Amino acid sequence: MKDPNCAYCGNEEALAAFGYPICEMDNALLYVFKEQSNKGRVILASKDHYDDFTEMSDEERNGFFADMAKVAKALRKLYEPDKINFGAFGDTGHHCHFHLVPKYKGSEEFGGMFAMNSGKLILDDEACAVLANEIRNALE
Ligand SMILES: [Zn+2]
Repeated sequence: MKDPNCAYCGNEEALAAFGYPICEMDNALLYVFKEQSNKGRVILASKDHYDDFTEMSDEERNGFFADMAKVAKALRKLYEPDKINFGAFGDTGHHCHFHLVPKYKGSEEFGGMFAMNSGKLILDDEACAVLANEIRNALE
C-alpha cells in the first residue's frame, strides 16, 4: 500500500522538507537527514507503507533489520561515532522509519535524546548528494 501524501511513498515535496534519497536497499529505503548536526544521520524506511515493523511479515522484518545493521556498520566505518542511536516514533507520520543518529562524545546531545530536528545545520542538496554518495559507497 502507498499513501500519496507520504514522504516515504514517493511524495518528493514532502521528502524534500527534511530528507534526501541515498538508495533503495534490498528491504528498505535510505535517506540523508538534512539536519546534520549529528554527522551521518540518516533515515531508514520500509518499502511499503506500514505503520510500524509489527505489521511486517517475519521475512520482511528480518530483511529490514538486516539492512539497518548494514547501514549502521557503514556509518561506523565512515564517521567513527561513539554511539549510534536508533529511534522510531511515528506519532504523526505513519510509515515505518528509523532515525539512525551517530552520536559523538563532547557534542551537546551526547548522553541524551537527540532533537527531532534542531534546524542547526541544514545541508543543501549539493552537500546532501556528497554525503549520500559517501554512504552509498560504504554499504556492502
Ligand atoms: Zn508511506
